[in-house]
Amino acid sequence: MTFADLELIAPIQKALQTQGYTNPTPIQAQAIPLLLEEHDLLGCAQTGTGKTAAFAIPILQLLHQQGHQQKGSRKIKALVVTPTRELAIQIGESFADYGKNLHLKHTVIFGGVGQKAQTDALQRGVDILVATPGRLLDLIHQGFISLKDINFFVLDEADRMLDMGFIHDVNKIVALLPKKRQSLFFSATMPPAIAKLANTILNNPKKVEV
Ligand code: AMP
Repeated sequence: MTFADLELIAPIQKALQTQGYTNPTPIQAQAIPLLLEEHDLLGCAQTGTGKTAAFAIPILQLLHQQGHQQKGSRKIKALVVTPTRELAIQIGESFADYGKNLHLKHTVIFGGVGQKAQTDALQRGVDILVATPGRLLDLIHQGFISLKDINFFVLDEADRMLDMGFIHDVNKIVALLPKKRQSLFFSATMPPAIAKLANTILNNPKKVEV
């Protein structure tokens, strides 16, 4: 299978060519069609499998097709929550790479650094927000972020999230999301606590395991 078989829009195909990608990885081949059909997704996959592109590409395509890129009405439509600053930065770079020919804006927020540059970026308007849980809640409570227009929610590395003690933060974030949304949940392992968390977030998900 090649990316040409996946019914991706031309600006994304072109960006993938620029990246030097020709064939989707197994998680991409399975997840991208399901996500483009707007299913929720439970993905059992580790870092290194190409899972970032598996969620970033369909989110970019659906946001583009839904016409959420207009200036003036830029509201956060897609939220990716990930446990570490390094992962947040990498995911932000993926949205930049695959979305380079689209007119969607993204930003990345994480703790341990000053918030001014992050709140300035938020105030200029973004379509896609990549965040670690603590800083996200902090900026929500300060009024810099509203989750009321979220259409896409991704919880990345859920098992690490639990190990790092972010479960309460994740529950608080989920409670603020609109009920009507597409949700994606990724974890390298699926112990009972993770399966239970997935159940509270996902609605009739398709399962993909690599
Ligand atoms: P991830 O598992 O999302 O952290 O991705 C692992 C690495 O694989 C990243 O460096 C990606 O740039 C790269 N990658 C993802 N998808 C593909 C693909 N279809 N072809 C070649 N490289 C890829």
